[in-house]
Amino acid sequence: MKSSRNLFHTLLLGMALLGLAIGAAFPFVMLRTGFMAPSAVRPPFIVAALCAGLVAGGINFALAASIVRPRLRVLAARMEAVREALRQAAFADNRAQWDPERSVVPEHGDDELGVVARNYNALLRGLHEAHQVEERIRGFTQALSSELDLAELGVRGLDLLVRNTDAQGGAILLERHGDWQLLASQGLRGAEHIRHSAAFADACRKALGRRMALAQGVTVDAVLSEFRPQDVLLEPIRHNGIVLGWLVLASSLELAEEAVRLIPVLLQGLGLALNNALLYDDLQRVAALDPLTGVYNRRFGLRRLEEEIARAARVQGPIALVVLDLDHFKKVNDSFGHLAGDRVLVHVSRFCLDLLRDGDLLMRYGGEEFVAILPGASLADAAAVADRIRFGVGAAPVKTDAGMVAVTVSIGVAACSGDAAIDLEALLHTADKRLYRAKASGRNRVVATEHA
Ligand code: GH3
Ligand code: MG
Ligand code: MG
Repeated sequence: MKSSRNLFHTLLLGMALLGLAIGAAFPFVMLRTGFMAPSAVRPPFIVAALCAGLVAGGINFALAASIVRPRLRVLAARMEAVREALRQAAFADNRAQWDPERSVVPEHGDDELGVVARNYNALLRGLHEAHQVEERIRGFTQALSSELDLAELGVRGLDLLVRNTDAQGGAILLERHGDWQLLASQGLRGAEHIRHSAAFADACRKALGRRMALAQGVTVDAVLSEFRPQDVLLEPIRHNGIVLGWLVLASSLELAEEAVRLIPVLLQGLGLALNNALLYDDLQRVAALDPLTGVYNRRFGLRRLEEEIARAARVQGPIALVVLDLDHFKKVNDSFGHLAGDRVLVHVSRFCLDLLRDGDLLMRYGGEEFVAILPGASLADAAAVADRIRFGVGAAPVKTDAGMVAVTVSIGVAACSGDAAIDLEALLHTADKRLYRAKASGRNRVVATEHA
């Protein structure tokens, strides 16, 4: 306001001086042009001319000010209101409620003031749009940043992306341990087949997003058969420049340009959240799994055993333990080397895993000792599994770089029926004792009872 007041002061002064100059010049012009006799140009006439000049200058100023000033005042007031709205919004969560239409100014005429008004309105709407985009990104990142569960993150992230872009379906594919995994899919049937498509392979090779506009009537991949997409978009999900996975979005109408521009920005948030969830998942794996064999480690395995025993007690169902130890394993290491020994351990653990049912668990209990937990299994069931393991391991020498290694295992089995109270320590102890008896009575055997 201050500068506009100064401007009007200057304008007023300028107009007054101009009026005075015209008033002062008027008598001389009259004399020169002969319109007046020298005797008529007397002081009262000169004073009247000066006053008339001043009045004309004042009218000029009033006219200019009355036209320009109100428009500038409206503009200044609106700007002030916008500034206040932005200031409040910065400290509150109501930025989305700021309505730019309440702060626009009338766009009269094509003169400079009209152009200023138009530009101001455009600036206002642009600012509002930028705020809305920022809001969406903020909301998106906030909604995902605390999610560490990979599957849940995939579902929520995809849902938000689909809704923010008005797409009708989509999927998120992750590359994990050299393999593709469908993390989430929405509105697409058979989305896992996307990774076999040539377009996907090409996008992966170039690590670049791509967009395929499919005209109506074009036969679309069977995977997208729930609707006929007009627009299919593939976009890499990166973190620190590394591609963690891919977003697929499909829409029956062409995706709005604005939405397409928003996707990479939203994906930055998803990339960060995904990276955190992947790290968390890896950490959990490291904490739970034995690095050599990939089965549960002792600490995690015992925790799972506790849970399974509690569950068996709750449902009053049986549970069995199979404890196995490789026979004369020290000799294997001595004869074939430690690496060959490692290879044998991996082989035996895989063999056991293949024999076990879904829901059974295997842990590496010690160096060359494994424990299988068989929820729901009776002693006879577990003894049968143990015998298959014993026979299978003994029957198939393991191929190692140092040659074929023949090994056998001794196994102790213990079980609890659902009607008795189950004690973890006691169950483990029983299985251990039976393993010891299997060793003592010649190895390569299964002991599942007290008197075998
Ligand atoms: P038995 O059980 O039949 O009485 O004889 P054993 O020779 O298997 O008995 P022991 O438990 O004394 O020896 C176990 C050996 O397993 C000793 C150790 O060097 C080896 N071992 C333990 N962990 C690993 C491992 O991660 N890799 C390899 N290669 N060997 C291991
Ligand atoms: Mg042993
Ligand atoms: Mg041992």
